[in-house]
Formats: sequence, structure tokens, C-alpha cells
Amino acid sequence: MIRTKILTTIVILGLFIIGLPGCSPAQLTLDSNQSKVQVFVSLLPQAYFVEKVGGEHVQVSILIPPGADPHTYEPTPQQMKMLAEADLYLKIGTIEFEELWMERLADVNPDMLVVDTSQSIELIDDDPHIWLSPARVKVQAQNILAALSQVDAQHQEDYQQNLEAFQAEMDQLDREISQQLKDVKHREFLVFHPAWRYFCEDYGLKEIPIERDGKEPTAQEMAQLIKQAKEKGIRVVLASPQHSTHEAEAIAGDLQGKVITIDPLARDYGANLRQVALELAAVLAAD
Ligand SMILES: [Zn+2]
Repeated sequence: MIRTKILTTIVILGLFIIGLPGCSPAQLTLDSNQSKVQVFVSLLPQAYFVEKVGGEHVQVSILIPPGADPHTYEPTPQQMKMLAEADLYLKIGTIEFEELWMERLADVNPDMLVVDTSQSIELIDDDPHIWLSPARVKVQAQNILAALSQVDAQHQEDYQQNLEAFQAEMDQLDREISQQLKDVKHREFLVFHPAWRYFCEDYGLKEIPIERDGKEPTAQEMAQLIKQAKEKGIRVVLASPQHSTHEAEAIAGDLQGKVITIDPLARDYGANLRQVALELAAVLAAD
């Protein structure tokens, strides 16, 4: 009896000791990070898409930080250095930042695969804001899958499974937004920076831009815009955290309307778009 107990203790102790070496969590994290696919994207919401499709196999870095304007951003020397370690660059498509910098970014690292995630998406007037339409995000996700499978073929099955889950998530989001916005009273609104064209197309809305070609409007253009908005009974003006809200507030004041600030570039894509739909539905439903 006593012998059995002693033997059991020895066996348990032995197992415990054998189990210890090589299992420190720090070691594990380091090893798994090194084997991950190093992906660069331009915009914060793209990180959400790539992490959903890539899952545990990817490490995503974002070029354009929170609060920065993707139409005018310039990468830092530190970012150029980090790009030398990247396996893959996933472009949003045609945004000014990429048009101006992509060649130089690619020159830093000739081994990096560069993929345009707007492939097979029909752009309207070269408008780059395709990520604000869940239906178009599904196509971007397919392009992300193809790119990841090219640089990391051994995890292709995982990517395929993740893609299917993500497509279902986008379908659900699309249904929820449609539901939120289907019965609103007003279907047009003013917006300082016109980022919502594809979103509007999907949900039967129309944005009227205050900014024209990236420039603030002249006094004459402002007056014209206010006249047009009054005729149409528009009372809602959208602003975004990346731009000044000065014009939006001035115009809303004239229209006795309301400014709502919504973010086209939030990293938490699903939650943000739900919030956008909720706020828009509330203001567009009001008299
Ligand atoms: Zn924009």
C-alpha cells in the first residue's frame, strides 16, 4: 500500500519535471510570431478583414494610423523599415496614398507580394471607399484569401474556412443595416467628406458632398449647397473624425439641422457600421 503511494508520487513528480522544459509561454509566442505571415494594409478596417480571413496565421500591420487622412498620408522612415520584413501588401485599391507611394513601398522589399483587393469590384467614378459596403467587402475578402493562399499555401484550408465564416458575418451585417434603413423618411444627407457612396448605393440613400475634390467649398459653393439642401428638405450633415467639422456645423446651423460624426475608418468594422446605421436611421427618420 505504502509502496504504491510512493511509486505514484514518483511517477507524478517525474511527469511534472519532464513537462517543464521548453514550455515557457514566452518561447511559444516568439516561435509562433516568427512563423506568421507578415501582412501590411493601408487602412484600419482592412486589418479587421485580414485578421478574420487569416486568423492565427497572420500578423497585420497598418500603414495609416488612427486619425490620419488616407488621402494625404505619408509613411514614416520607421514604417519603410518595417516593410522590409513583410510577406504581403494588401492594397485597398485606388486611394491617393497608394497611388503616390506604392512603387516606393514595393521597392523597399522586392520579395513582398503586392495585391490589389479591389480586383473584380466595379468602381464608381474611381471612388476608393469600397470598404464601406459589406457586399463589396465580401469580394475584397475573396481577394485576401487568394493572396494569403499564394504566400502561405499550407494553411489554405484554414483560410477557406475563415472566409466562409466572414462572408456569413458580412451577409448578416448587410441584412441588419438594410433593416435599419429601409423605412427612413429622408433618403438624402449632406456629408463633409464623401466616403459613403457605395454604402448609399447598397441601402437606397444619397450623399451630397460638401468637400469637392478634397477641397473645402468656397463661400459661393456653400451658399449654393445650402439652397439646394433647403429645397430638398435635408437636415442631416455627416462629419468624420479625420476632417474639420467647421463647415458641417455652419451648414447644419443654417438648415436648423443636425451634425452627426461617424467614422469611415474605425478598426472594429462590424460594430462601427452597426453604430453608423443606428445613428443614421435615427436622424433620417426624424421630421
Ligand atoms: Zn476618404
